[in-house]
Amino acid sequence: METLGSAKNTIEILQKYHISLQKKFGQNFLIDKNILEKIVDAAHVTANDCVLEIGPGIGTMTQYLAERAKNVIAVEVDKNLIPVLQDTLSSYNNVTIINQDILKTDLHRIIEEHGGGRPVKVAANLPYYITTPIIMALFENHIALQNITIMVQKEVADRMQAEPGTKNYGALSLAVQYYAKPEIIVKVPASCFIPKPNVDSTVIRLTKYEKPPVAVWDEAYLFAVIRASFNQRRKTLVNGLAGAPVLGVNKEEIAGVLAQMGLPAAIRGETLTLEQFTELSNSLLHVPKQK
Ligand code: SAM
Repeated sequence: METLGSAKNTIEILQKYHISLQKKFGQNFLIDKNILEKIVDAAHVTANDCVLEIGPGIGTMTQYLAERAKNVIAVEVDKNLIPVLQDTLSSYNNVTIINQDILKTDLHRIIEEHGGGRPVKVAANLPYYITTPIIMALFENHIALQNITIMVQKEVADRMQAEPGTKNYGALSLAVQYYAKPEIIVKVPASCFIPKPNVDSTVIRLTKYEKPPVAVWDEAYLFAVIRASFNQRRKTLVNGLAGAPVLGVNKEEIAGVLAQMGLPAAIRGETLTLEQFTELSNSLLHVPKQK
């Protein structure tokens, strides 16, 4: 069967099934074979792998994944696309199509059932407004996975990869870099999709660490510290953290910990590394709390 990744074949399929594209599901379909090859290469899919594809659409990337993987679990929210997927993937017996919203799917169970007990590889080209919640849900729920290769809005890829002290550095950079090593794979122009999105896209691979690169006493507290530090970007770290009641620390206590760490009292959160945030959060957690 001829693969789908071209404008002609995509339009034919959409017409054949009278598919009207759903804006609410962010439906922009990939039509560039070169980019499809690059994504599947970047995901390092081998014949032993189970791949979880989120948002298969009409099955364009699914075909490429099914050629290389042991099996593919494709989770698509739009029920109108299920008959299309059953058709475009009919020559593969290693694809399971699931009609569900990924954010409401019991991924532990599905991976257990189809993944043969090994961590899966995740591939996705999703609506950009749900990309970050999905990535964070995969990490925070400790889904057994090796890597996530995902198309994101260019600016989001820049934020995920950003280093301390740069304008793109923030809570998302630290959250991603706590769980995984981010690497930008390829920039994707709008002309590679039907219909053309009005933003530039980038494929990024997040290779999950077996264990986080820092020793954190309390993950939830670390992320509360990080969020408070970037919530009020223009404030000093002391003021930002003291203004977050959930942390339960006052200005003097924060200033004391910063001094212990050899950091200036007027420092801003955007210059701290993940290691420094970890030390800060571990120390603040152990400041004796006032009764
Ligand atoms: N992967 C296909 C491709 O590259 O051509 C389609 C990409 S399109 C940008 C995004 C796809 O994700 C659509 O098919 C859409 O219906 C699906 N989708 C959107 N939200 C979803 C969700 N919450 N769970 C599962 N699939 C979703």
